[in-house]
Amino acid sequence: MAPECPTFDRDLVSQNMHWDERCRELFDIPAGKTVTYDDDFLACLHPHDRERVNDHILNFAFVKALSDGKYDVTYRIIGARDKKLRWIRSRGKVFFNADSVPIRFIGAVFDITDIKQANKKNALLSAIIQSSYDAIISKNLDGLVESWNGAAERMFGFTAEEMIGQSIFKIIPPGKQDEEQQILSRVKKGERLEHFETTRLRKDGTQIDISLTISPIKNEDDEIIGLSKIARDISDQKLAELRKNDFITIASHELKTPLTTIKSYVQLLLSKARTDNDKFKTEALSRVEKQANKMSALIQNFLNSAKLLEGKLDLVIERFKAYDLLTEITEDAKLLSPSHPIIMKDCEDLFVTGDRNKIAQVMGNLISNAVKYSPLGSTITISCKAIGGQAQIAVSDTGIGIEKKDQAKLFDRFYRVENDKLKNVAGFGIGLYLVAEILRFHDSRILVESKANAGSKFYFNLPISQ
Ligand code: ADP
Repeated sequence: MAPECPTFDRDLVSQNMHWDERCRELFDIPAGKTVTYDDDFLACLHPHDRERVNDHILNFAFVKALSDGKYDVTYRIIGARDKKLRWIRSRGKVFFNADSVPIRFIGAVFDITDIKQANKKNALLSAIIQSSYDAIISKNLDGLVESWNGAAERMFGFTAEEMIGQSIFKIIPPGKQDEEQQILSRVKKGERLEHFETTRLRKDGTQIDISLTISPIKNEDDEIIGLSKIARDISDQKLAELRKNDFITIASHELKTPLTTIKSYVQLLLSKARTDNDKFKTEALSRVEKQANKMSALIQNFLNSAKLLEGKLDLVIERFKAYDLLTEITEDAKLLSPSHPIIMKDCEDLFVTGDRNKIAQVMGNLISNAVKYSPLGSTITISCKAIGGQAQIAVSDTGIGIEKKDQAKLFDRFYRVENDKLKNVAGFGIGLYLVAEILRFHDSRILVESKANAGSKFYFNLPISQ
Protein backbone atom coordinates (compact mmCIF):
# COMPACT_ATOMS: atom_id res chain seq x y z
CA MET A 1 0.00 0.00 0.00
CA ALA A 2 1.33 3.46 -0.86
CA PRO A 3 2.44 5.48 2.19
CA GLU A 4 0.28 8.44 3.37
CA CYS A 5 2.83 10.91 2.07
CA PRO A 6 5.95 10.78 -0.09
CA THR A 7 9.01 9.77 1.96
CA PHE A 8 12.79 9.79 1.78
CA ASP A 9 15.39 7.85 3.73
CA ARG A 10 19.09 8.70 3.56
CA ASP A 11 21.80 6.54 5.12
CA LEU A 12 24.44 9.07 6.10
CA VAL A 13 27.14 6.43 6.56
CA SER A 14 26.82 4.66 3.18
CA GLN A 15 25.26 7.80 1.55
CA ASN A 16 22.63 5.55 -0.03
CA MET A 17 19.41 7.38 -0.51
CA HIS A 18 15.92 5.94 -0.94
CA TRP A 19 13.07 7.96 -2.38
CA ASP A 20 9.68 6.34 -2.63
CA GLU A 21 7.58 6.46 -5.78
CA ARG A 22 5.56 9.54 -4.82
CA CYS A 23 8.61 11.48 -3.69
CA ARG A 24 10.14 10.79 -7.13
CA GLU A 25 6.91 11.96 -8.77
CA LEU A 26 7.17 15.35 -7.06
CA PHE A 27 10.82 15.84 -8.02
CA ASP A 28 10.07 14.22 -11.40
CA ILE A 29 12.86 11.63 -11.08
CA PRO A 30 12.32 8.36 -13.02
CA ALA A 31 11.64 5.19 -11.02
CA GLY A 32 14.72 2.99 -10.67
CA LYS A 33 17.25 5.82 -11.03
CA THR A 34 19.75 5.91 -8.20
CA VAL A 35 19.23 9.18 -6.36
CA THR A 36 21.89 11.21 -4.66
CA TYR A 37 21.79 14.25 -2.41
CA ASP A 38 23.84 16.43 -4.76
CA ASP A 39 22.67 15.28 -8.21
CA ASP A 40 19.01 14.95 -7.47
CA PHE A 41 17.93 16.70 -4.28
CA LEU A 42 20.16 19.79 -4.45
CA ALA A 43 19.95 19.90 -8.26
CA CYS A 44 16.15 20.10 -8.16
CA LEU A 45 16.04 22.88 -5.56
CA HIS A 46 15.10 26.31 -6.88
CA PRO A 47 18.35 28.32 -7.27
CA HIS A 48 17.04 30.95 -4.82
CA ASP A 49 16.44 28.33 -2.10
CA ARG A 50 19.35 25.95 -2.70
CA GLU A 51 21.97 27.55 -0.48
CA ARG A 52 19.57 28.22 2.37
CA VAL A 53 18.22 24.66 2.47
CA ASN A 54 21.63 23.04 2.12
CA ASP A 55 22.95 25.24 4.91
CA HIS A 56 19.95 24.41 7.08
CA ILE A 57 20.47 20.64 6.65
CA LEU A 58 24.21 20.61 7.13
CA ASN A 59 24.58 23.29 9.79
CA PHE A 60 21.38 22.95 11.75
CA ALA A 61 19.52 19.65 11.27
CA PHE A 62 22.72 17.60 11.35
CA VAL A 63 23.96 19.39 14.47
CA LYS A 64 22.45 17.59 17.42
CA ALA A 65 23.10 20.41 19.88
CA LEU A 66 21.16 22.84 17.73
CA SER A 67 18.25 20.88 16.28
CA ASP A 68 17.99 17.68 18.31
CA GLY A 69 17.45 16.10 14.88
CA LYS A 70 14.23 17.97 14.12
CA TYR A 71 13.83 19.09 10.51
CA ASP A 72 11.02 21.24 9.08
CA VAL A 73 11.69 23.41 6.06
CA THR A 74 9.80 24.93 3.11
CA TYR A 75 11.35 25.42 -0.33
CA ARG A 76 10.66 25.45 -4.04
CA ILE A 77 11.76 22.72 -6.42
CA ILE A 78 11.89 22.55 -10.18
CA GLY A 79 10.93 19.14 -11.62
CA ALA A 80 13.98 17.35 -13.08
CA ARG A 81 12.32 16.80 -16.48
CA ASP A 82 8.98 18.66 -16.56
CA LYS A 83 10.67 21.80 -15.09
CA LYS A 84 7.50 22.50 -13.15
CA LEU A 85 7.76 24.70 -10.08
CA ARG A 86 6.35 23.17 -6.91
CA TRP A 87 6.30 24.37 -3.33
CA ILE A 88 7.36 21.71 -0.85
CA ARG A 89 7.21 21.46 2.90
CA SER A 90 9.57 18.80 4.18
CA ARG A 91 9.54 17.43 7.71
CA GLY A 92 11.80 14.75 9.10
CA LYS A 93 14.17 13.49 11.73
CA VAL A 94 17.91 13.02 11.88
CA PHE A 95 19.26 10.12 13.98
CA PHE A 96 22.66 10.38 15.66
CA ASN A 97 25.10 7.79 17.04
CA ALA A 98 26.49 7.93 20.57
CA ASP A 99 29.06 10.52 19.46
CA SER A 100 26.32 12.82 18.11
CA VAL A 101 27.34 12.07 14.52
CA PRO A 102 24.30 12.03 12.16
CA ILE A 103 23.78 8.55 10.71
CA ARG A 104 20.30 8.52 9.20
CA PHE A 105 17.90 11.10 7.90
CA ILE A 106 14.25 10.13 7.35
CA GLY A 107 11.37 12.35 6.41
CA ALA A 108 8.40 13.19 4.27
CA VAL A 109 7.68 15.84 1.68
CA PHE A 110 4.33 17.59 1.10
CA ASP A 111 3.23 19.42 -2.02
CA ILE A 112 1.94 22.78 -0.75
CA THR A 113 1.84 24.53 -4.15
CA ASP A 114 -1.95 25.03 -4.03
CA ILE A 115 -1.83 26.51 -0.53
CA LYS A 116 1.01 28.85 -1.52
CA GLN A 117 -0.86 29.97 -4.63
CA ALA A 118 -4.09 30.49 -2.68
CA ASN A 119 -2.17 32.52 -0.08
CA LYS A 120 -0.62 34.59 -2.83
CA LYS A 121 -4.04 35.17 -4.38
CA ASN A 122 -5.51 36.12 -1.00
CA ALA A 123 -2.66 38.53 -0.33
CA LEU A 124 -3.19 40.07 -3.75
CA LEU A 125 -6.95 40.39 -3.23
CA SER A 126 -6.57 41.92 0.19
CA ALA A 127 -4.01 44.40 -1.19
CA ILE A 128 -6.51 45.38 -3.90
CA ILE A 129 -9.34 45.72 -1.35
CA GLN A 130 -7.14 47.68 1.01
CA SER A 131 -6.01 50.11 -1.69
CA SER A 132 -9.49 50.52 -3.24
CA TYR A 133 -10.95 54.02 -3.45
CA ASP A 134 -14.39 52.54 -2.67
CA ALA A 135 -15.37 51.32 0.78
CA ILE A 136 -15.53 47.50 0.76
CA ILE A 137 -17.32 45.95 3.69
CA SER A 138 -18.51 42.44 4.47
CA LYS A 139 -21.00 41.43 7.12
CA ASN A 140 -22.63 38.22 8.26
CA LEU A 141 -26.35 37.47 8.34
CA ASP A 142 -26.62 38.82 11.89
CA GLY A 143 -25.54 42.18 10.53
CA LEU A 144 -22.11 42.04 12.21
CA VAL A 145 -19.25 43.58 10.27
CA GLU A 146 -16.53 41.07 9.32
CA SER A 147 -14.23 43.20 7.21
CA TRP A 148 -13.71 46.94 6.78
CA ASN A 149 -11.12 48.33 4.36
CA GLY A 150 -9.08 51.55 4.39
CA ALA A 151 -11.57 53.46 2.22
CA ALA A 152 -14.38 52.52 4.65
CA GLU A 153 -12.26 54.01 7.45
CA ARG A 154 -11.82 57.24 5.50
CA MET A 155 -15.44 57.42 4.30
CA PHE A 156 -17.22 56.71 7.58
CA GLY A 157 -14.56 57.78 10.08
CA PHE A 158 -14.66 54.49 12.03
CA THR A 159 -11.46 52.38 12.13
CA ALA A 160 -11.54 48.64 11.34
CA GLU A 161 -11.04 47.90 15.08
CA GLU A 162 -14.06 50.05 15.91
CA MET A 163 -16.29 48.28 13.37
CA ILE A 164 -15.26 44.63 13.05
CA GLY A 165 -17.62 42.53 15.19
CA GLN A 166 -19.97 45.52 15.56
CA SER A 167 -23.46 45.88 14.11
CA ILE A 168 -23.74 47.51 10.68
CA PHE A 169 -26.62 49.57 12.15
CA LYS A 170 -23.91 51.78 13.64
CA ILE A 171 -23.68 53.51 10.23
CA ILE A 172 -27.35 53.33 9.20
CA PRO A 173 -29.39 56.49 9.87
CA PRO A 174 -32.51 56.03 12.04
CA GLY A 175 -35.00 56.37 9.15
CA LYS A 176 -33.24 53.71 7.06
CA GLN A 177 -32.98 50.82 9.50
CA ASP A 178 -35.47 48.70 7.47
CA GLU A 179 -33.24 48.89 4.42
CA GLU A 180 -30.94 46.10 5.60
CA GLN A 181 -33.76 43.56 5.76
CA GLN A 182 -35.11 44.67 2.38
CA ILE A 183 -31.65 44.42 0.82
CA LEU A 184 -31.16 40.94 2.24
CA SER A 185 -34.50 39.65 0.97
CA ARG A 186 -33.84 41.09 -2.50
CA VAL A 187 -30.37 39.50 -2.62
CA LYS A 188 -31.86 36.19 -1.42
CA LYS A 189 -34.24 36.28 -4.39
CA GLY A 190 -31.14 36.37 -6.58
CA GLU A 191 -31.52 40.06 -7.45
CA ARG A 192 -28.36 42.00 -8.22
CA LEU A 193 -28.24 45.27 -6.35
CA GLU A 194 -26.12 47.75 -8.21
CA HIS A 195 -25.81 51.49 -7.72
CA PHE A 196 -28.41 51.48 -4.96
CA GLU A 197 -28.42 55.09 -3.77
CA THR A 198 -28.86 55.73 -0.07
CA THR A 199 -27.37 57.60 2.87
CA ARG A 200 -25.21 56.42 5.76
CA LEU A 201 -23.92 57.92 8.99
CA ARG A 202 -20.36 59.00 9.65
CA LYS A 203 -18.74 58.69 13.06
CA ASP A 204 -19.18 62.46 13.58
CA GLY A 205 -22.96 62.08 13.09
CA THR A 206 -23.10 63.71 9.63
CA GLN A 207 -24.72 61.87 6.74
CA ILE A 208 -23.03 60.82 3.53
CA ASP A 209 -24.67 60.03 0.16
CA ILE A 210 -23.45 56.71 -1.18
CA SER A 211 -24.10 54.34 -4.05
CA LEU A 212 -24.06 50.69 -2.95
CA THR A 213 -23.34 47.54 -4.92
CA ILE A 214 -24.28 44.48 -2.93
CA SER A 215 -23.53 40.82 -3.58
CA PRO A 216 -24.11 37.68 -1.54
CA ILE A 217 -21.26 35.76 0.12
CA LYS A 218 -21.98 32.03 -0.22
CA ASN A 219 -20.56 28.93 1.43
CA GLU A 220 -19.57 25.74 -0.42
CA ASP A 221 -23.21 24.56 -0.31
CA ASP A 222 -24.29 27.73 -2.14
CA GLU A 223 -26.02 29.07 0.97
CA ILE A 224 -25.86 32.81 1.63
CA ILE A 225 -23.79 33.42 4.74
CA GLY A 226 -23.27 37.14 4.44
CA LEU A 227 -23.19 40.17 2.20
CA SER A 228 -20.38 42.13 0.69
CA LYS A 229 -20.95 45.79 -0.02
CA ILE A 230 -19.05 48.25 -2.12
CA ALA A 231 -19.91 51.83 -1.24
CA ARG A 232 -19.00 54.86 -3.33
CA ASP A 233 -19.17 58.40 -2.01
CA ILE A 234 -21.57 60.28 -4.32
CA SER A 235 -21.94 63.47 -2.25
CA ASP A 236 -20.42 65.67 -5.00
CA GLN A 237 -22.58 64.07 -7.66
CA LYS A 238 -25.69 64.55 -5.49
CA LEU A 239 -24.86 68.19 -4.93
CA ALA A 240 -24.40 68.75 -8.67
CA GLU A 241 -27.72 66.95 -9.32
CA LEU A 242 -29.50 69.11 -6.76
CA ARG A 243 -28.13 72.26 -8.38
CA LYS A 244 -29.16 71.05 -11.82
CA ASN A 245 -32.57 70.13 -10.49
CA ASP A 246 -33.04 73.54 -8.89
CA PHE A 247 -32.12 75.14 -12.18
CA ILE A 248 -34.58 72.97 -14.12
CA THR A 249 -37.38 73.74 -11.65
CA ILE A 250 -36.78 77.50 -11.71
CA ALA A 251 -36.38 77.65 -15.50
CA SER A 252 -39.51 75.53 -16.05
CA HIS A 253 -41.59 77.72 -13.74
CA GLU A 254 -40.31 80.85 -15.45
CA LEU A 255 -41.22 79.43 -18.87
CA LYS A 256 -44.63 78.20 -17.77
CA THR A 257 -46.17 81.59 -16.92
CA PRO A 258 -45.49 83.39 -20.24
CA LEU A 259 -46.43 80.22 -22.12
CA THR A 260 -49.84 80.12 -20.43
CA THR A 261 -50.43 83.72 -21.54
CA ILE A 262 -49.28 82.93 -25.09
CA LYS A 263 -51.66 79.93 -25.20
CA SER A 264 -54.69 81.91 -24.03
CA TYR A 265 -54.07 84.72 -26.55
CA VAL A 266 -53.55 82.20 -29.34
CA GLN A 267 -56.87 80.56 -28.43
CA LEU A 268 -58.58 83.96 -28.47
CA LEU A 269 -57.07 84.84 -31.85
CA LEU A 270 -57.88 81.39 -33.18
CA SER A 271 -61.55 81.62 -32.29
CA LYS A 272 -61.68 85.11 -33.84
CA ALA A 273 -59.97 83.85 -37.03
CA ARG A 274 -62.50 81.01 -37.22
CA THR A 275 -65.43 83.42 -36.76
CA ASP A 276 -63.93 85.70 -39.45
CA ASN A 277 -63.53 82.62 -41.65
CA ASP A 278 -59.90 83.62 -42.19
CA LYS A 279 -58.36 80.35 -43.39
CA PHE A 280 -54.76 81.53 -43.45
CA LYS A 281 -54.85 82.86 -39.86
CA THR A 282 -56.76 79.79 -38.63
CA GLU A 283 -54.14 77.48 -40.13
CA ALA A 284 -51.19 79.55 -38.86
CA LEU A 285 -52.62 79.94 -35.35
CA SER A 286 -53.46 76.21 -35.14
CA ARG A 287 -49.79 75.49 -35.77
CA VAL A 288 -48.74 77.99 -33.11
CA GLU A 289 -51.19 76.38 -30.68
CA LYS A 290 -49.83 72.89 -31.44
CA GLN A 291 -46.25 73.92 -30.86
CA ALA A 292 -47.22 75.76 -27.67
CA ASN A 293 -48.94 72.57 -26.45
CA LYS A 294 -45.82 70.52 -27.22
CA MET A 295 -43.72 73.03 -25.29
CA SER A 296 -46.10 72.91 -22.40
CA ALA A 297 -45.92 69.06 -22.26
CA LEU A 298 -42.12 69.29 -22.30
CA ILE A 299 -42.09 71.80 -19.43
CA GLN A 300 -44.49 69.56 -17.48
CA ASN A 301 -42.04 66.66 -18.00
CA PHE A 302 -39.17 68.75 -16.66
CA LEU A 303 -41.17 69.80 -13.61
CA ASN A 304 -42.20 66.23 -12.89
CA SER A 305 -38.68 64.88 -13.27
CA ALA A 306 -37.39 67.55 -10.87
CA LYS A 307 -40.13 66.65 -8.38
CA LEU A 308 -39.26 62.96 -8.68
CA LEU A 309 -35.65 63.61 -7.80
CA GLU A 310 -36.75 65.44 -4.68
CA GLY A 311 -39.13 62.56 -3.90
CA LYS A 312 -42.06 64.97 -4.13
CA LEU A 313 -44.25 63.40 -6.81
CA ASP A 314 -47.66 63.34 -5.13
CA LEU A 315 -50.37 61.20 -6.65
CA VAL A 316 -54.08 61.98 -6.52
CA ILE A 317 -55.57 58.50 -6.78
CA GLU A 318 -59.14 58.37 -8.05
CA ARG A 319 -61.51 56.02 -9.84
CA PHE A 320 -61.99 56.96 -13.48
CA LYS A 321 -63.18 55.60 -16.80
CA ALA A 322 -60.10 54.55 -18.77
CA TYR A 323 -62.11 54.65 -22.00
CA ASP A 324 -63.01 58.32 -21.53
CA LEU A 325 -59.45 59.32 -20.71
CA LEU A 326 -58.07 57.42 -23.71
CA THR A 327 -60.67 59.02 -25.99
CA GLU A 328 -59.68 62.50 -24.79
CA ILE A 329 -56.00 61.72 -25.22
CA THR A 330 -56.54 60.26 -28.69
CA GLU A 331 -58.50 63.32 -29.82
CA ASP A 332 -55.78 65.67 -28.50
CA ALA A 333 -53.06 63.55 -30.09
CA LYS A 334 -54.85 63.58 -33.45
CA LEU A 335 -54.87 67.38 -33.40
CA LEU A 336 -51.27 67.54 -32.25
CA SER A 337 -49.96 64.96 -34.73
CA PRO A 338 -52.04 64.95 -37.92
CA SER A 339 -49.06 63.30 -39.63
CA HIS A 340 -50.11 59.88 -38.23
CA PRO A 341 -53.52 58.18 -37.99
CA ILE A 342 -54.09 57.57 -34.27
CA ILE A 343 -56.77 55.01 -33.55
CA MET A 344 -58.37 53.28 -30.56
CA LYS A 345 -58.71 49.55 -31.00
CA ASP A 346 -59.92 46.85 -28.56
CA CYS A 347 -60.69 49.50 -25.97
CA GLU A 348 -62.95 48.06 -23.31
CA ASP A 349 -65.11 50.26 -21.15
CA LEU A 350 -63.28 49.82 -17.84
CA PHE A 351 -63.09 51.74 -14.58
CA VAL A 352 -59.55 51.93 -13.23
CA THR A 353 -57.82 53.56 -10.25
CA GLY A 354 -54.85 55.86 -10.54
CA ASP A 355 -53.85 59.49 -10.85
CA ARG A 356 -55.82 60.53 -13.96
CA ASN A 357 -53.57 63.50 -14.83
CA LYS A 358 -50.36 61.56 -14.39
CA ILE A 359 -51.67 58.63 -16.46
CA ALA A 360 -52.57 61.20 -19.13
CA GLN A 361 -48.92 62.35 -19.04
CA VAL A 362 -47.75 58.73 -19.36
CA MET A 363 -49.96 58.25 -22.43
CA GLY A 364 -48.93 61.64 -23.86
CA ASN A 365 -45.26 60.61 -23.67
CA LEU A 366 -45.86 57.16 -25.15
CA ILE A 367 -47.93 58.53 -28.04
CA SER A 368 -45.53 61.37 -28.84
CA ASN A 369 -42.67 58.80 -28.94
CA ALA A 370 -44.71 56.51 -31.19
CA VAL A 371 -45.21 59.47 -33.56
CA LYS A 372 -41.58 60.55 -33.32
CA TYR A 373 -40.12 57.11 -34.01
CA SER A 374 -42.37 55.86 -36.82
CA PRO A 375 -42.71 56.90 -40.47
CA LEU A 376 -45.19 59.56 -41.57
CA GLY A 377 -48.61 58.11 -42.27
CA SER A 378 -48.12 54.94 -40.19
CA THR A 379 -50.85 54.11 -37.70
CA ILE A 380 -50.52 54.45 -33.92
CA THR A 381 -52.87 52.15 -32.01
CA ILE A 382 -54.17 52.64 -28.47
CA SER A 383 -55.81 49.73 -26.69
CA CYS A 384 -57.19 48.87 -23.25
CA LYS A 385 -58.10 45.29 -22.33
CA ALA A 386 -58.96 43.45 -19.13
CA ILE A 387 -56.25 40.85 -18.57
CA GLY A 388 -55.97 38.86 -15.33
CA GLY A 389 -58.14 41.30 -13.36
CA GLN A 390 -56.09 44.29 -14.51
CA ALA A 391 -56.59 46.82 -17.26
CA GLN A 392 -53.74 46.55 -19.73
CA ILE A 393 -53.25 49.84 -21.57
CA ALA A 394 -50.99 49.83 -24.64
CA VAL A 395 -49.60 52.13 -27.31
CA SER A 396 -48.33 50.37 -30.45
CA ASP A 397 -46.56 51.66 -33.52
CA THR A 398 -45.02 50.17 -36.64
CA GLY A 399 -41.92 52.36 -36.52
CA ILE A 400 -38.18 51.90 -36.25
CA GLY A 401 -38.39 49.65 -33.16
CA ILE A 402 -35.72 49.21 -30.51
CA GLU A 403 -32.91 46.68 -30.44
CA LYS A 404 -32.87 44.22 -27.53
CA LYS A 405 -29.61 45.60 -26.14
CA ASP A 406 -31.16 49.08 -25.71
CA GLN A 407 -34.47 47.97 -24.23
CA ALA A 408 -33.31 47.59 -20.62
CA LYS A 409 -31.78 51.08 -20.53
CA LEU A 410 -34.67 52.99 -22.17
CA PHE A 411 -36.14 53.99 -18.84
CA ASP A 412 -32.96 55.50 -17.38
CA ARG A 413 -32.93 59.26 -16.95
CA PHE A 414 -31.41 61.03 -19.99
CA TYR A 415 -30.94 57.74 -21.88
CA ARG A 416 -31.31 58.00 -25.66
CA VAL A 417 -30.62 55.27 -28.18
CA GLU A 418 -27.69 56.25 -30.34
CA ASN A 419 -27.67 55.24 -33.97
CA ASP A 420 -27.62 56.85 -37.41
CA LYS A 421 -31.39 56.68 -37.83
CA LEU A 422 -31.89 58.76 -34.69
CA LYS A 423 -29.21 61.36 -34.98
CA ASN A 424 -31.63 64.03 -36.26
CA VAL A 425 -34.48 63.24 -33.86
CA ALA A 426 -34.57 65.75 -31.01
CA GLY A 427 -35.24 64.73 -27.42
CA PHE A 428 -33.97 64.86 -23.86
CA GLY A 429 -34.32 61.22 -22.84
CA ILE A 430 -36.60 61.93 -19.90
CA GLY A 431 -39.99 60.89 -21.35
CA LEU A 432 -39.67 57.16 -20.71
CA TYR A 433 -37.91 57.75 -17.39
CA LEU A 434 -40.97 59.72 -16.26
CA VAL A 435 -43.34 57.09 -17.61
CA ALA A 436 -41.49 54.38 -15.64
CA GLU A 437 -41.35 56.46 -12.45
CA ILE A 438 -45.00 57.57 -12.55
CA LEU A 439 -46.04 53.94 -13.02
CA ARG A 440 -43.67 52.80 -10.26
CA PHE A 441 -45.47 55.23 -7.95
CA HIS A 442 -48.67 53.41 -9.00
CA ASP A 443 -47.05 50.02 -8.08
CA SER A 444 -47.16 49.23 -11.77
CA ARG A 445 -44.43 49.04 -14.41
CA ILE A 446 -43.92 49.90 -18.03
CA LEU A 447 -43.15 46.98 -20.34
CA VAL A 448 -41.94 47.00 -23.92
CA GLU A 449 -42.13 44.54 -26.78
CA SER A 450 -40.16 45.72 -29.74
CA LYS A 451 -38.15 44.57 -32.72
CA ALA A 452 -35.80 46.72 -34.79
CA ASN A 453 -37.59 48.00 -37.93
CA ALA A 454 -40.85 46.27 -36.99
CA GLY A 455 -42.36 48.62 -34.40
CA SER A 456 -42.87 48.81 -30.66
CA LYS A 457 -45.58 48.19 -28.14
CA PHE A 458 -45.34 49.92 -24.74
CA TYR A 459 -47.89 48.74 -22.17
CA PHE A 460 -48.74 48.82 -18.47
CA ASN A 461 -51.42 47.62 -16.07
CA LEU A 462 -53.74 49.54 -13.77
CA PRO A 463 -56.09 47.96 -11.26
CA ILE A 464 -59.67 47.62 -12.46
CA SER A 465 -62.12 49.24 -10.09
CA GLN A 466 -65.49 47.48 -9.94
P1 ADP B 1 -36.52 61.04 -26.08
O1 ADP B 1 -37.62 60.59 -26.98
O2 ADP B 1 -36.67 62.44 -25.62
O3 ADP B 1 -35.17 60.74 -26.62
P2 ADP B 1 -37.52 59.06 -24.19
O4 ADP B 1 -37.12 58.83 -22.76
O5 ADP B 1 -38.95 59.35 -24.44
O6 ADP B 1 -36.59 60.20 -24.72
O7 ADP B 1 -37.11 57.79 -25.01
C1 ADP B 1 -35.80 57.24 -24.85
C2 ADP B 1 -35.35 56.56 -26.14
O8 ADP B 1 -36.16 55.42 -26.37
C3 ADP B 1 -35.50 57.42 -27.37
O9 ADP B 1 -34.35 58.21 -27.58
C4 ADP B 1 -35.70 56.39 -28.48
O10 ADP B 1 -34.45 55.98 -28.97
C5 ADP B 1 -36.34 55.21 -27.77
N1 ADP B 1 -37.79 55.11 -28.02
C6 ADP B 1 -38.80 55.53 -27.20
N2 ADP B 1 -39.99 55.23 -27.73
C7 ADP B 1 -39.77 54.61 -28.89
C8 ADP B 1 -40.60 54.04 -29.92
N3 ADP B 1 -41.94 54.06 -29.83
N4 ADP B 1 -39.99 53.47 -30.99
C9 ADP B 1 -38.65 53.43 -31.09
N5 ADP B 1 -37.81 53.95 -30.17
C10 ADP B 1 -38.35 54.53 -29.09
